[in-house]
Amino acid sequence: MAAWISTAGITLVGDAIHLMSSVGGVGAVTAIKNAADLARILGKRGFSVESIAAYEHSMRASARINIQRGFAGGKRIFNQLPFELCKQVDS
Ligand SMILES: Cc1cc2nc3c(=O)[nH]c(=O)nc-3n(C[C@H](O)[C@H](O)[C@H](O)COP(=O)(O)OP(=O)(O)OC[C@H]3O[C@@H](n4cnc5c(N)ncnc54)[C@H](O)[C@@H]3O)c2cc1C
Repeated sequence: MAAWISTAGITLVGDAIHLMSSVGGVGAVTAIKNAADLARILGKRGFSVESIAAYEHSMRASARINIQRGFAGGKRIFNQLPFELCKQVDS
């Protein structure tokens, strides 16, 4: 997940930022971990661009690991294609 410019007062948790596949079995815990990390950082540092950026930095790292778990499960169970070969869905 590429970094972006953080904004004070706005951030995302869970599937809203990293949609999780069903087969990794880690989507719910990842969303809860995001919320716990965000609460801990805001509780310690208060609201600021820096505290939101610190949360988003840790979220990108932990989500990346669990997205790979979901991908590994999809490959094993459904023979899922690598991400770069999946068709793009227009929203
Ligand atoms: C078929 C399937 C099976 C899965 N199995 C597992 C599993 O076994 N284990 C696991 O860990 N994960 C599993 N996942 C993934 C897991 O469900 C998600 O990663 C997790 O629910 C994400 O939590 P969330 O709170 O970010 O989002 P969500 O659970 O999607 O919650 C978002 C909530 O926001 C509400 N909402 C949306 N728009 C608005 C609005 N405008 N106003 C107010 N409310 C709104 C929605 O109704 C919803 O209640 C599975 C996913 C799928 C699709």
